[in-house]
Amino acid sequence: MNDIREVEVVVIGAGQAGLAAAHHLRRTGFESEHDFVVLDHSPGPGGAWQFRWPSLTYGKVHGMHALPGMELTGADSARPSAEVIGEYFAAYEKTFDLRVRRPVDVLAVREGTGGRLLVETSAGTWSTRALINATGTWDRPFWPRYPGQETFLGRQLHTAQYTGPEEFAGQRVVVVGGGASGTQHLLELAPYAAATTWVTRRPPVFREGPFDEEAGRAAVALVEERVRQGLPPKSVVSVTGLPLNDAIRAGLESGVLDRLPMFDRITEKGVEWAGGRRVAADAILWATGFRAAIDHLAPLRLREAGGGIRVEGTRAVADPRIHLVGYGPSASTIGANRAGRAAVRDIRRRLAEEEPVAA
Ligand SMILES: Cc1cc2nc3c(=O)[nH]c(=O)nc-3n(C[C@H](O)[C@H](O)[C@H](O)COP(=O)(O)OP(=O)(O)OC[C@H]3O[C@@H](n4cnc5c(N)ncnc54)[C@H](O)[C@@H]3O)c2cc1C
Repeated sequence: MNDIREVEVVVIGAGQAGLAAAHHLRRTGFESEHDFVVLDHSPGPGGAWQFRWPSLTYGKVHGMHALPGMELTGADSARPSAEVIGEYFAAYEKTFDLRVRRPVDVLAVREGTGGRLLVETSAGTWSTRALINATGTWDRPFWPRYPGQETFLGRQLHTAQYTGPEEFAGQRVVVVGGGASGTQHLLELAPYAAATTWVTRRPPVFREGPFDEEAGRAAVALVEERVRQGLPPKSVVSVTGLPLNDAIRAGLESGVLDRLPMFDRITEKGVEWAGGRRVAADAILWATGFRAAIDHLAPLRLREAGGGIRVEGTRAVADPRIHLVGYGPSASTIGANRAGRAAVRDIRRRLAEEEPVAA
């Protein structure tokens, strides 16, 4: 397909951030397929939620904010979040007629002509005046490297490949990572596995009491400062600490959440510390997080020396046509909502300054 389709705005990604942005585009008069298009490479609605393991039930998520303009009500907390949120996003796309095109894989975004950007995809090319990048992190699981990793005879997997505890029945599992996923994996695995071991680089920080707005703002401000400096963002969750809820308390009491410092090397049979301590393992589960899935933006050379993209609000400092939503400080469901609205407001202003947005 060689035809290039012209639009005002391309949104890449139909997760929380992309749908929030699409909703605000729709609401503010971007109507037709010449005004905007949403492209997503996943098979169905739900953003990254559709890939999350079945035992991550809706009751276990930490406060999922509804998309703008439509509440998620009456969901059964015992059902997998993948199903609940997949269905909710599907209804949302339909209600607001967001016309997501899927599966469409965005391969590269390049400089076009006349101040436009070219978005090259598995389904042809779009030429656009503005780009909202909402591609999340799920497609870029982060695997740290440790000496001997390739010699391990057991199984190594990342949170992105975890499908539940049953397949680890009777196994000795080392879980690496001090975030919410790591602790959830351990609590789930404990009744099935022969033994679990938890290792983290830094001692985990547990947060007492409710996570109020002030604490939320402080956490977001920390991540915001990083992206303003052009450093790779940390996840908001990584700076908020782990909520000391009943499940975590029980895990601490039973010893499931006794944490060891990071091991120094991996052997054929398990992991080893410099002092001589060894733990035998059948599986190593890397709950070590994700990075921003932005490789398709590489031709635009937006990355700073620090490795991140410098962002003010949602706009890339190096290129005002590009907005990153669900990136850095807006990588939470509430942040994604706000970022979607802010990006659309900024784009409307910029396009209107250049010429009227809609005829
Ligand atoms: C295990 C886990 C649990 C979480 N729990 C919570 C929680 O309880 N509460 C909370 O607020 N936040 C939570 N978060 C964070 C939350 O999921 C995100 O902040 C938010 O949902 C991400 O939305 P998003 O739209 O930015 O990304 P995603 O949901 O990842 O959506 C990105 C979309 O972009 C598409 N895409 C990516 N690359 C391309 C490409 N090149 N071409 C085309 N399409 C592409 C993907 O297919 C995907 O549909 C959790 C995260 C994880 C990993």
